[in-house]
Amino acid sequence: MKIDSITCRVLDFPLEREFHPAWARGRNQPDLLMVLIEVETDEGVKGIGAAHAGLEAAIAIDRFVAPYFLGQDPTQVERLIPVLRDSEILGAPVYCMEMTLWDIIGKVAGLPVARLWGGFSDRVVAYCATAEVRSPAQRVDDVQRMLSEGYKAVKFRFHLTNPRDDLKVVEAVRAVVGDRIEIMVDANQAGVEPGHGGHHSWGFPTALAVARELELMQVRWLEEPLPRHDYDGLHRLRDKLDTLAIAGGEDNHGLHEFKLLIDRGCYDILQPDALLSEGVGQMRKVAALAEASGLEVAPHTWGNGIGLMANLHVAAAIPNCPFLEFPHDPPSGFTAAARDQMLLEPLTIEQDGCVHVPNRPGFGLVLDEERIARYTVSTHTSSAKD
Ligand SMILES: [Mg+2]
Repeated sequence: MKIDSITCRVLDFPLEREFHPAWARGRNQPDLLMVLIEVETDEGVKGIGAAHAGLEAAIAIDRFVAPYFLGQDPTQVERLIPVLRDSEILGAPVYCMEMTLWDIIGKVAGLPVARLWGGFSDRVVAYCATAEVRSPAQRVDDVQRMLSEGYKAVKFRFHLTNPRDDLKVVEAVRAVVGDRIEIMVDANQAGVEPGHGGHHSWGFPTALAVARELELMQVRWLEEPLPRHDYDGLHRLRDKLDTLAIAGGEDNHGLHEFKLLIDRGCYDILQPDALLSEGVGQMRKVAALAEASGLEVAPHTWGNGIGLMANLHVAAAIPNCPFLEFPHDPPSGFTAAARDQMLLEPLTIEQDGCVHVPNRPGFGLVLDEERIARYTVSTHTSSAKD
């Protein structure tokens, strides 16, 4: 089997309502921008993937991946991985391309990718990942809605000028629903997006003070409390805590850097993302390193349902994944329906609080071709016949 063509379509979907992600410093995000990647083979099998990015990913794939993928056997994944690693030297990261190869292999094998990889489970407990900063009273209402929908866990964003005010959200939720829901907190200190208003860096003393308060309220983990390369600070922080886990890694790149995070003792829970930080198959190696070190992996996801599907399959395949990030923050514009608007079979949470792996070959994606065609901004094809 050989790769015949690679097509990248830049898609720009609307969000129906305003959306103010906490990590973008008050900016309204009006749309969902992504790249749909389709790899076609000479045997008619098509691998689907996506980038959580725009035109820059399509250009990087066209320039740095396509010349070395075309004509190659897509099932020889490990022979192609170096191409993806080296693409990042000069272009936007394209780890997302590995997803297309495993989609092809799963379709040829007639098995869901999670099963090909050992199939530890057919479902993963989802946590409802909120994105906006809201008042304690509003978050109490939100959590009561989540409980009625089956969620067993929720993640809040800490971004106020004074983190003491952020803590009031957790206090209010614990006071009303007790321990009926697991709580996580994300400080997004590891990377900064441009936006309005200043980004408030915590520094070590604030990170420790917040962590100790969260520990008292039985919070499951504190995510990205310090910059992504502050290996010493993260290790020192983790060392001072008893029950609160420190999580992170979504903004770190490459297998070697996850090994470094493990070796330096930075995190209890590693959070690679199949579209951003490593290839979906390489994430299994991260999970193996973590398993051998007694650590957990909880994949990061944001952006689009295709990425969530990739992360779901690796999360279900491995034995050390406690939770799957499930982005959903109504009534803002960013909901599960908005996230999955390119799919005819969106990912949903079941009454058991889990997302179930679809029993379809490959990643089991069913594209909404009509909607995709409507919101395609540009199409970029590289072909072996060119
Ligand atoms: Mg995060």
